[in-house]
Amino acid sequence: MKSIHCQADSFVPSKIICVGRNYTEHALELGNAVPDTMVLFLTPNSSVSTSLMASHLGEQLQYEGEICYLVRGKRFVAVGLGLDLTKRGLQSRLKAKGLPWERAKAFDGSAVLGPFVPLEDPWMELTIRLHINGVLRQQGATSQMLFPPQQILAEIQSFLTLEDGDVVMTGTPAGVGKVLSGDRFHLTLHHQDRELAAVSWTALP
Ligand code: ZN
Repeated sequence: MKSIHCQADSFVPSKIICVGRNYTEHALELGNAVPDTMVLFLTPNSSVSTSLMASHLGEQLQYEGEICYLVRGKRFVAVGLGLDLTKRGLQSRLKAKGLPWERAKAFDGSAVLGPFVPLEDPWMELTIRLHINGVLRQQGATSQMLFPPQQILAEIQSFLTLEDGDVVMTGTPAGVGKVLSGDRFHLTLHHQDRELAAVSWTALP
């Protein structure tokens, strides 16, 4: 089983819960309606990875930079940075047929997660930035989410049990695009002017 890390502690997530279309501009860039109910999907423990790949079994991947929360005791206790990798072509075909997204979202290595840091306040304002090869490609803040973290936690727990170590990926801001082999990804997490976490990956082929 894959594990994730928060300072000296390690956790084995039973699942990753992902929010879709949680930023208006991202919903629109993919031609989706802005949802009036929260879009949620799951990926399994086997989707967790610490390395970034540009393709999986021959299919090109897209990146989605996301603020991620770590659950312990049914609460968000830590925050981290992640990339939700997507087979966009396949996802579009599945969506068009009304079929589930797992083949496009839940493959091995699709949830690329950096280390987590403890949260001082679970509802503190957070901003994520993604630079690729030094260029700012994505930026989003908890205050811009259609469904803020507090509401996400409540909605998920209205129908499933969150175990210690589970991770919630809160959706991606606008600016998604292709992962290209050799690209240097640098994700940072901020509270006001303070950088709370940073992680870098170089995309593998
Ligand atoms: Zn996502």
